Amino acid sequence: MDNCLFCKIIKGEIPSAKVYENGKILAFLDINPVNPGHTLVIPKTHYANLVETPEDVLDEMIRAVKKIASAILQATGAEGFNLGVNNGKPAGQLILHTHFHIMPRRAGDGLKHWPGKPYREGEMAEVAEKIRGEL
Ligand code: AMP
Ligand code: ZN
Repeated sequence: MDNCLFCKIIKGEIPSAKVYENGKILAFLDINPVNPGHTLVIPKTHYANLVETPEDVLDEMIRAVKKIASAILQATGAEGFNLGVNNGKPAGQLILHTHFHIMPRRAGDGLKHWPGKPYREGEMAEVAEKIRGEL
């Protein structure tokens, strides 16, 4: 994809702080981290989002996440991490090249969890039924 920032990073046209690479996967530091060590894991082939990414590529991505996350914890002294996917513009996806965020976390780092809101009476069963119907 000519206009894709992450494809340009893969091609070396834009610099990045690479932390891991294999034949199919590249991982580099997010330029605007929630905490130092925040890493983006991307496939070297362009897919717009998670849903459009083939299963075998997702397998490679999640295997890389496991490997890199352990290294991030060791290297930064973080006590945990969040694994994030913003899938689609309404979910906050800015770069339309599928990616996982590995966000190292420390107790008391101030990052808030997303807020939850309760279902109304009967809604939960209804929604579950609708989703099951699509699977
Ligand atoms: P998303 O909202 O999930 O699409 O996240 C895109 C992420 O890419 C954001 O967290 C940005 O900070 C990050 N980002 C944007 N440009 C660059 C860049 N040149 N190098 C590294 N990370 C970047
Ligand atoms: Zn791309």
